[in-house]
Amino acid sequence: MSAQLIDGKAFAEGLRHKVAALAAAFEGKAGRKAGLAVVLVGEDPASQVYVRSKGKQTVACGMASFEYKLPVTASEEELLALVEQLNNDRSVDGILVQLPLPAHLDEQKVIATIDPDKDVDGFHVINAGRLAVGQPGFVPCTPLGCLMLLKDRLGDLSGLDAVVIGRSNIVGKPMAQLLVAESCTVTVAHSRTKDLPAVVHRADIVVAAVGRPEMVKADWIKPGATVIDVGINRLPPEPGQDKGRLVGDVDFTGVREVAGAITPVPGGVGPMTIAVLLRNALVAAYRNEGLELDPDAL
Ligand code: NDP
Repeated sequence: MSAQLIDGKAFAEGLRHKVAALAAAFEGKAGRKAGLAVVLVGEDPASQVYVRSKGKQTVACGMASFEYKLPVTASEEELLALVEQLNNDRSVDGILVQLPLPAHLDEQKVIATIDPDKDVDGFHVINAGRLAVGQPGFVPCTPLGCLMLLKDRLGDLSGLDAVVIGRSNIVGKPMAQLLVAESCTVTVAHSRTKDLPAVVHRADIVVAAVGRPEMVKADWIKPGATVIDVGINRLPPEPGQDKGRLVGDVDFTGVREVAGAITPVPGGVGPMTIAVLLRNALVAAYRNEGLELDPDAL
């Protein structure tokens, strides 16, 4: 029987509605809108599309969007000065510096300059540390979005076997931390893992964050497992087409015949990332104003 589809697009829309309602309540209490600042350096086309989409969705949720565009030639001093200025601006609750940065700029240094309480991407080492020790902070948007989809589908995750494929700071590691905090038994697999199919086969939950098109095959999956596909890969174009198809890290057609539930690509994890960013920005706003926010409200 075919797996149930986990509809990230619909879930993200629901989350944005909740954010919008709480953003209106915030404005009533604080006398200002919650504000998210996005900094883009250079003219990478994919980053431009992404930043535009963030700006639109921020405004649609009733928050203020501040966009800063620096030329590709911007110096590190200029960028760090802008980040400092945003750190000190009380109308800005969240700061996101769009990655990747041009090669002459040190990403780690830039991230380290963002006030951890405005670091809505959750990339600052302070927030990575808070996640590791279970203190409230900001969690990277993509893995938090995956966790929301998993809890929505499975309810209590405690005791489940989870395999996360990938150990990046942005997806794999925080995903593993989140699943540990939910009392899963977690294995983190990576490029050096021996017999990956056998490792994946024992999992009730598989999160694939690798960046290799359709790598995870049907015979790796335990029947009934829940599969979250983070990968976004563009295949080479077919003859006569100018763009190739977007696929995940999971062989969707095969795996959906074995899994209990699966996220499609596109329309699964992808739409969650910006919705969770807006959620994080709103949480930052409530915290920055010292206002209570029910942790279960979002
Ligand atoms: P990285 O390239 O930073 O990390 C990839 C990870 O996969 C590494 O840990 C690497 O292992 C591991 N890996 C590589 N090859 C293999 C292999 N053959 N077997 C097992 N593990 C392997 O990628 P990201 O974490 O940034 O992103 C992963 C994917 O998710 C990409 O497709 C990206 O586009 C997508 N993505 C999607 C987002 C969304 O919004 N939906 C957001 C962010 C990313 P090692 O550490 O040993 O090198």
